[in-house]
This record gives sequence, C-alpha cells and structure tokens, in this order.
Amino acid sequence: MRLRHIKGCEDFITDAKECIREDKAIELKGSIQDIFEEKRPLQIEIGMGKGQFIRNMAIAHPDINFIGIEKYESVLMKAIQRKRNLEKDKSIENLRFLCADAKKLSEIFEAGEVDKIFLNFSDPWPKDRHANRRLTSPDFLNIYDTILKKDSVIEFKTDNVGLFEYSLEVVKDSKWKLDFCSFDFHSEKESEGNIMTEYEEKFSSQGNKICKMIISR
Ligand code: SAM
Repeated sequence: MRLRHIKGCEDFITDAKECIREDKAIELKGSIQDIFEEKRPLQIEIGMGKGQFIRNMAIAHPDINFIGIEKYESVLMKAIQRKRNLEKDKSIENLRFLCADAKKLSEIFEAGEVDKIFLNFSDPWPKDRHANRRLTSPDFLNIYDTILKKDSVIEFKTDNVGLFEYSLEVVKDSKWKLDFCSFDFHSEKESEGNIMTEYEEKFSSQGNKICKMIISR
C-alpha cells in the first residue's frame, strides 16, 4: 500500500508520541519496551498498512504489547489517526507504532525479544527480480529467526496464491516447519475468532479465498 504523499506526514510522525522512528528505535535496541507503560509479551505486525488488524488485536488482548510496523509515513499517519479516533472512549495503551523498513528489524530488536510475528497481505512483488523484497523471502526469514523467541511462530495470511506458493517453497528449503497451512482459511475451524485485516475484508468480500500458514522452527 503506497498512499500519495500527504503534506506534513513527516512532522506528524516525528511528533506522534505513540510512534517511534527507525533511527531512534535502533538507539533503543534492547529496551524498545520502554515505549510502553508496562512490559508485556511482545507481538509485531510487519507491513501493517492502516493498522486495522493490530488495533483490533490490541483491544482483544490487553495483556500483550503490540507494535505495528510500516515503512511509509503517509500510511502510518492514517493508522495513528484511526487509533486516536478510537481512543476518544478508551486509550489503547498496549499498541505502539514503528516507522521502519523490515530490513532493519534485527538492528532494532534483541535476539528472541519478539513473541509472535504477523505478516498480513504482504506486497507480492510478482517479478522474479524483486523476489528478495517479498517479506517471506529467505533473507527476511533469517531476520525473523534472530528476533523471534524460541518456540514462537510467524502467522502469514494472503489472498495471493502466487506469493503463498512461493512462501511454501521458501519454508520447505529452510529450517522453518509448517505448523498449519490452508488455501481456504475462512472455511477452516481454525478461523474461529479470526481478526480480519483491511485487505482481508476487501478481498474476501470480492470472493477471493484467503490462504494462511503458521510456521515455527
Ligand atoms: N497488513 C495490511 C492489511 O493486511 O490490510 C496492509 C497490507 S499492504 C498490501 C502491505 C503493507 O506493507 C504496505 O503498507 C507496505 O508499505 C508495507 N511494507 C511493505 N514492505 C515493507 C517493509 N520492507 N517494511 C515495512 N513495511 C513494508
């Protein structure tokens, strides 16, 4: 998702108290949980877009801290504005945002610091020459391997069958194990209680099937 540039979004992100930028997060390595009022288990969504999923996860699980990660400031600004709109009733203390490229995550999080990673409707980058930009490429899985706690999982949903099949191949050739796999997740009993992302709502309402995998190592 790349929104047109929104005038003033850089200053908005710099001033937003619920958001931290990549350079500051790198300085904070090892104490990133200082951005929360309380330390709790930590779950992150990489490429959260406008943040519908992570917002609803944070509301549903107040005992967990969530960080929504997004590289584009204009997109992140929308996520922050939507969080603030919801907070007119009650503040969401366990949700913070990180403006960063996923490439930098091992410079930001300590080894084993993250309890779960969500990848939702990641950009497919269909051309072979862009395969290393896919968030399920071997290089990205190696980054997740360093920051994810032992015995923890990555949950990945997409409607893009090409990206899903590519990701299955990457997993097969790696140390990661496939714990769950469905090409039609919404028809599975495991989808009970599923929290939908913005893209998931849009594409499933158009009749697209949603694929999901859970991997661990
Ligand atoms: N997860 C949301 C959903 O399911 O509705 C948004 C999906 S959108 C297609 C993918 C998002 O990932 C975009 O907002 C994009 O800017 C972000 N993204 C892509 N590559 C990224 C990277 N390397 N680091 C951080 N964010 C990234």
